[in-house]
Amino acid sequence: QLGRLEQECSPLRNRLWHRSYCPRTHIILTDNSSLPDTHQMLRQTCADFAEKELAPLAWTTDKKHLYPTEQVRKMGDLGLMAIDQKEEYGGAGLDSLAYAVAMEEISRGCATAGVIMSAHNSLYLGPIKYWGSEQQLQKYVLPFSTGEKVGCFALSEPGNGSDAGAASTTARDDGDCWVLNGTKSWITNSYEASAAVVFATTDKSKKHKGISAFIVPMPTEGLSLGKKEDKLGIRGSSTANLIFDDCKIPKENLVGESGFGFKIAMSTLDAGRIGIASQALGIAQASLDCAIAYADDRKAFGAPISKLQSIQFKLSDMALKIESARLLTWRAAKLKDAGMNFTKEAAMAKLAASETATFASHQAIQILGGMGFVSDMPAERHYRDARITEIYEGTSEIQRLVIAGRLLAEYRK
Ligand SMILES: Cc1cc2nc3c(=O)[nH]c(=O)nc-3n(C[C@H](O)[C@H](O)[C@H](O)COP(=O)(O)OP(=O)(O)OC[C@H]3O[C@@H](n4cnc5c(N)ncnc54)[C@H](O)[C@@H]3O)c2cc1C
Repeated sequence: QLGRLEQECSPLRNRLWHRSYCPRTHIILTDNSSLPDTHQMLRQTCADFAEKELAPLAWTTDKKHLYPTEQVRKMGDLGLMAIDQKEEYGGAGLDSLAYAVAMEEISRGCATAGVIMSAHNSLYLGPIKYWGSEQQLQKYVLPFSTGEKVGCFALSEPGNGSDAGAASTTARDDGDCWVLNGTKSWITNSYEASAAVVFATTDKSKKHKGISAFIVPMPTEGLSLGKKEDKLGIRGSSTANLIFDDCKIPKENLVGESGFGFKIAMSTLDAGRIGIASQALGIAQASLDCAIAYADDRKAFGAPISKLQSIQFKLSDMALKIESARLLTWRAAKLKDAGMNFTKEAAMAKLAASETATFASHQAIQILGGMGFVSDMPAERHYRDARITEIYEGTSEIQRLVIAGRLLAEYRK
């Protein structure tokens, strides 16, 4: 693939393309000193992996909508596909800060790989870690820790996304099994998943307090997949509907207690937002990497455009926002690791980082001029990939509601 691209690109494009793909060579990673030694090593390991294994394939992954099977398996070898699970269940036994650091570097190399890792770790494994039984951990976490099998999380429906409490998918108690009916929409990893954590209502009269969480093995009778969505970004990951038509699952696949589903979903999303904030940071950082490489190389009026103050202002605004959002993200992760409430901080991190990704990728295109608008350079892909981080796991509007809700409660105490 690299060879084909090299032939297609002009020498100038070729040189810049390579430079913008090799961020490690000219970026001293910020804030490293505030990380524990283990996390610094993990960051470097993930950065090296992303540079060698992910970034060179990101163009093809995006263009051809290819799920990066081999790369996900290698991420499993690195311990990234069950990063904060206990070692006895095949996990790496690391914490949320480690997850944040790793997620940023993986997404910096390829945002598609980032979302696959994030949906699997935060959304699928996360709720089973905190709410699952020993039997569920053995059956649905341990074999999912190597990168061979991935999971998905099915909360959204065609009729409700932000208003997740209005779920209309039902789960009927049928004596020795649960019977699921309804449609879940936008489900990441759905085409590759070997299991899903699914939210369905067991008692409609109780509204969101009647929602329960279930593990559904995939494939299973009564469950079919809708068409793969053709997306603006993160195009190597699959997104599709899960359609349940009298789908029977074992009784023991209820996660936590009946009626606890909404609570499980909301706490899962709190943690997931640290992952999406980190994914957004990776995209933003990759945009800055690309912009600096180009600005140092491109000459206008006899000098590199990096000498122009207007370009420097853009670069400094990008760096400022990235570093601010990174501090918010690490703060949320540290609070989670300390066992403290982190709902507001995770929402702040996701809001800041996702808006930063949109800002930084927009500025990168401006700095690249015409070269920012074509797909030979990664800037336009970063711009498309950035956009989803403001939507999934709670839109920016929902993050603002979460932050304001907590803020007002704190002031009224
Ligand atoms: C690529 C992709 C992957 C996804 N992956 C998954 C997944 O794996 N699992 C899953 O369950 N879901 C997934 N989703 C769904 C995603 O979480 C929802 O799209 C998101 O929560 C928004 O819901 P919605 O699309 O229904 O928008 P809506 O809820 O209809 O919102 C539309 C607009 O109204 C605004 N709005 C809604 N309510 C309010 C309010 N109270 N105050 C202010 N503004 C409001 C929103 O911010 C938005 O701007 C994915 C979506 C996409 C696009």
